[in-house]
Formats: sequence, structure tokens, C-alpha cells
Amino acid sequence: MQSQSVVILGSTGSIGKNTLDVIGRHPELLSVYALSAHTRIKALVKQALRFQPKIVIVPSPQARKEFMQLWAGNSQAMPIIRVGSQALVETVQEAEVTTVMAAIVGIAGLPSVLAAAQAGKRILLANKEALVAAGDLFMHAVAANNAELLPVDSEHNAIFQCLPKSHHNNGHSQPVKGVRRLLLTASGGPFRTFPLAKLDNVTPEQACAHPTWDMGRKISVDSATMLNKGLEVIEAHWLFAMPAEKIDVVIHPQSVVHSMVEYEDGSVLAQMGQPDMRTPIAHSLGFPERIESGVGLMSLTQMGCLEFEAPDYERFPCLKLAYEALASGQVACIGLNAANEIAVAAFLQNELRYIDIARVIASTLEQVTKETSHHPENLEHVLALDELARVTAQQQCQVLYS
Ligand code: NAD
Ligand code: MG
Repeated sequence: MQSQSVVILGSTGSIGKNTLDVIGRHPELLSVYALSAHTRIKALVKQALRFQPKIVIVPSPQARKEFMQLWAGNSQAMPIIRVGSQALVETVQEAEVTTVMAAIVGIAGLPSVLAAAQAGKRILLANKEALVAAGDLFMHAVAANNAELLPVDSEHNAIFQCLPKSHHNNGHSQPVKGVRRLLLTASGGPFRTFPLAKLDNVTPEQACAHPTWDMGRKISVDSATMLNKGLEVIEAHWLFAMPAEKIDVVIHPQSVVHSMVEYEDGSVLAQMGQPDMRTPIAHSLGFPERIESGVGLMSLTQMGCLEFEAPDYERFPCLKLAYEALASGQVACIGLNAANEIAVAAFLQNELRYIDIARVIASTLEQVTKETSHHPENLEHVLALDELARVTAQQQCQVLYS
């Protein structure tokens, strides 16, 4: 494996921390060029002291001051501190950077990951919202600039591992030959067997208590509603050039089979492992080689049985909404993602009921697709549509919560 100089966008999050854990196991091969954080500046300082990046990126002059104050008294040289979202874009494009881990949550990560594609970098993609909102634009940028795209999302990383090597170059417009369908597995989240009638009273804490994965709060709520799986269906559509009708979702509560590829001859290839994001992160960092991730042996005998069941749209209306958005097109996908970001944030602040998340998304989708049908041609257009959907979703939240 060639040595890599890595930028971690969103280093203080769940994926960011796991990425540093893997990088720390391979100091001779992987070095940290830049780290970015949005809120947890103290955690960023700790990471910078350990990994000695050249650059750190913070959101505001206030955060920069906080970083400097927390750093004071350390004998190590302080990294260069850059401020604001444009700094994320500029940093990923620098010549010294080989690899960009896109681990910012939400559409906020889109400009920087798109810039990394335009600069032809090796991109490790965790930030699925970017692909949902701008799949076409992003995949074109990857192909046109010879960027390398490696999926970090466990399901897509699993599918990538189950596809033939011929599919490993990027920018596909054709599905892989011989594939009948992709099977995305989903844990079903904390409410898989929860009484339906009681769902309107669930709290953010209950929604974030994921049975198998330890993740950031937004994606944890998305897993509870299964909108996360819906975003992943759209993500798989773009990553593997697969039509929606060839992407199925199956609930698998143990989260051991991370996803599957079914071929025309009836063969089904699965990638398995413990539910620990360090596996797909190490796979994407090391690719095409295999590197140590810190994940221990998997005990099949302790695991007992593996179960699979069909998702129920009455319990998980958000999954259906995502399939509908994909069928409708890019404007609807932008609306789906934006409305969900707004609704989940409101739910996490106890300003929206859990069951109203799906209602906010449905009514926002209806409104934005009525108002506009232009296929977005560039980043500014995507962000403008995102903003429009946010305003609409915000209004819907207020109506439902009043
Ligand atoms: P998280 O909330 O734990 O971390 C998010 C990171 O993004 C933090 O470093 C935060 O500082 C930064 N950030 C937040 N808002 C920002 C903004 N407006 N501008 C710049 N930076 C900002 O989230 P996470 O669980 O690590 O997830 C990150 C991404 O990876 C998401 O897109 C998620 O869907 C995807 N993902 C996560 C997991 C997982 O296991 N956590 C698995 C698959 C995919
Ligand atoms: Mg996933």
C-alpha cells in the first residue's frame, strides 16, 4: 500500500473517531493532513495533539479562539487553523492530500466532498446525504476527474466487496453484468418490534438507543425510522448504477450480514462481520490491500442464529417515501433529504413527535415537486433547492407541532 495523506472532514464524529482509530494503527502508511470539527473543539484539540495534522478547520472565529486557548501551554507546534466551510473546500484540493474521508453529517458535507471529486482525490464516502442530494453531479465529477470512490457505509462497502474487480474503477453508467439485484440489510432499529400505537410517544433517547450500531444522533434517528435505509437505496443506485427495482431491503436484526449481491445464476454473495465501522473504514483506507482494523475475531457459534424479515411500510413509512423520491427524480431526493434533516433536528429538540417525521417529509416532497421540476445542473442549484425544501419542512414542523 502506498502511503496516504488523509483529510478527515468531520473528525470529531462517530466515523471520524473510528477513522483515527484505524489510522493510529498504521503510522508508517497513513498520516493526517487535516482535521475538521463543527462543535467539539476540545475533542479536536486532543486529536490534533495526538495526530499532528498540518491544518485544522473550525467553523467560526470564536471556535478558532477556543482552539488556541485550549492549545496554549502545549510544547508541540500548533497546526494552522482555518475557518469556515470554504476552508474545507480549499483544503481537500491541496496537492499534498491523497485521501479524503467524507464524514460530515448532512448536506453540509456536499461542497467539500464534491471539491474532492473535482480534484481527483481518493474519496472514502460516509456522507451519504451528499450522494442523495447530488448523485448525478457527484458521480460525473468522480468520472471526469478520475477520482477514486470507496464506499464506507457498511452496506455499500459490503456490496463493493461482493462485486467483481472489474467494477472497481469509477464513474459507471451501466450496472454490473450478471447482477440480478442488490440486497441491503437493515437492523430494523430500536422500534422494529415496538407497539405501533405507542410510537407517537417515543423520545429522542429511545430513538437513539440503537440495538447494534453506535452512531451519531442524526443517523441513529434515521435508522429508527428506516429513512437511513431509504437514503442507502438511493446511495446504492448512484454508486452501482442500479435501478431502484433491483435494490431490495431486508431486515436482519443481528447486523452481521452487511449486505448481499445476487447474481443471475442464483449465487448470493454476502459480506459479514461484527457491527463495527472500523471494518469498512479499514477496507476503504487499505484498498486494494487488507489492513488491521482493531476488530477482533467473529464468533459464529456465540452469535447463534441469523434472522431475516421483510420491512413493513406501515411501521416504516419513510422507507417507502425514499423509494418514491428515487422514482420521482433528483428534486424529490433533495427534498427528501432536506425535509428529513429538518424533521430529525426538530425531533431531537423535542419540537416534533417521532411519527410526524414521515409526515413532514411527505408533505414537503409533495410541495417541492409541485413547485419545481428542473433537474439541478450545478452545486448552487442543488443548494438552492435544498434551502427551498428546508423552509417548507420548517413550516410543516410548526404546523404539526402547534
Ligand atoms: P456525527 O454526528 O457523529 O459526526 C458528524 C461530524 O460532522 C462531526 O465531526 C461534526 O463536527 C461535523 N459536522 C456536523 N455538522 C457540520 C457542519 N454543518 N459543517 C461541518 N461539519 C459538521 O455523525 P456520524 O455518525 O459520524 O456520521 C457522519 C456521516 O457518516 C453521516 O453522513 C452518516 O450518515 C454517515 N455514516 C455514519 C455511520 C456511523 O456508524 N456513524 C455509518 C454509515 C454512514
Ligand atoms: Mg449503513
